[in-house]
Amino acid sequence: MRVIVVGAGVLGTMHAWQAVERGHEVVHLEREAEARGASVRNFGLVWVGGRASGEELAAAQRARDLWQRIGERVPGLHFRANGSLTVLRTEAELAVAEEVVKREDAADRGYRLLDAAETRAVNPALRGDHLGALHCTRDAAVEPRTAQPALRAALQASGRYTFLPGREVRDLVGTAGVRDDHGEVHHGDLVLLCTGAWTGGLVRELAPELPVRRVRLQMMQTDPLGEPLTTSVADGDSFRYYPAYAGTALDALQAVQPQGQVAAEHRMQLLMVQRTDGGLTVGDTHEYEQPFGFDTVEEPYEHLAAVAGQFLGRPLPRIRRRWAGVYAQCLDAGRVVHRERPNDAVWLVTGPGGRGMTCSPAIAETTADLADL
Ligand SMILES: Cc1cc2nc3c(=O)[nH]c(=O)nc-3n(C[C@H](O)[C@H](O)[C@H](O)COP(=O)(O)OP(=O)(O)OC[C@H]3O[C@@H](n4cnc5c(N)ncnc54)[C@H](O)[C@@H]3O)c2cc1C
Repeated sequence: MRVIVVGAGVLGTMHAWQAVERGHEVVHLEREAEARGASVRNFGLVWVGGRASGEELAAAQRARDLWQRIGERVPGLHFRANGSLTVLRTEAELAVAEEVVKREDAADRGYRLLDAAETRAVNPALRGDHLGALHCTRDAAVEPRTAQPALRAALQASGRYTFLPGREVRDLVGTAGVRDDHGEVHHGDLVLLCTGAWTGGLVRELAPELPVRRVRLQMMQTDPLGEPLTTSVADGDSFRYYPAYAGTALDALQAVQPQGQVAAEHRMQLLMVQRTDGGLTVGDTHEYEQPFGFDTVEEPYEHLAAVAGQFLGRPLPRIRRRWAGVYAQCLDAGRVVHRERPNDAVWLVTGPGGRGMTCSPAIAETTADLADL
């Protein structure tokens, strides 16, 4: 088969990967000169621990194994099974961790409850005061800025992959062809549209009632820390955002420990991961109301720097970069992604939300199975 993939974010690239792996030829079109959407703006967290039981956890677990396997072949992903620590600062946060480590699926998620000394033994950079941490050994990380180009380089070596950047797809032609904004038509047997959070234009024409919402996040990256941050790190506010932690202890936490004003206003949690140059990517915020701000605001950064500084027991290194990103999230909470078929040979795959980097290898594998690739 000849497969046309539209969109060179992580979802499009993983779909191209599946098609090439299964022996097909791929033409991959991207509007920009290089991927510039959510896939290069994220933390690169392959985050298993916080996923909802059922379809979401199964997809994250499968995807985590695929990331590892693909990472062995593509060193530019910098896949590392570094695990995560959710640092506990209050009795209410400790109670949430105590509750989840007793659940049946705790071992599958790689949960362990650590006291303060054990936490510092796992991640010596966490010198600040805390009660301990929820360790999730299944969590992992990749490098978002290099992942897509590294995957494409490996695909190109197959001889069955063509990347066409700077081509916006404007129309479907026939059953499985697309026309780009150079007027060129690309014919195939199957079209996979992985167009991310761009829900207007062609996507609106094909799927006017797309059940996804757009979410905007603010992020930053520091100068090198000067020492390893051996795990990814989260704060107790992350319990409020990930479905795995729902339960009576979280209800009690919400009642006795309301978020501070800035964290509540910007719907924040702290996530922190070390890049290969030693810098730290730190975030995030969640903005749901459109029109989104076109600029970044400072208060959330001050909050994140304060929390990160408490965990590290010293100030964050200088902030080198700040940015915002937008992802699309499907509205059906039970689904990992939204798939829609404008016709038999065309699939639109979008809305993986804040788990798109994590789950993309498994999402692409499922699409390939469903499409009989
Ligand atoms: C700040 C931030 C942090 C995040 N952190 C994490 C994390 O740590 N872990 C995690 O699992 N998830 C995370 N996510 C979510 C994850 O990044 C997204 O779910 C995922 O990257 C979506 O990938 P995508 O390929 O669908 O979209 P995108 O990366 O946006 O790619 C879509 C591509 O399609 C192209 N395109 C659109 N329309 C056309 C067209 N008509 N023709 C040609 N090309 C077109 C665009 O230019 C774009 O390059 C985060 C998201 C953000 C914004």
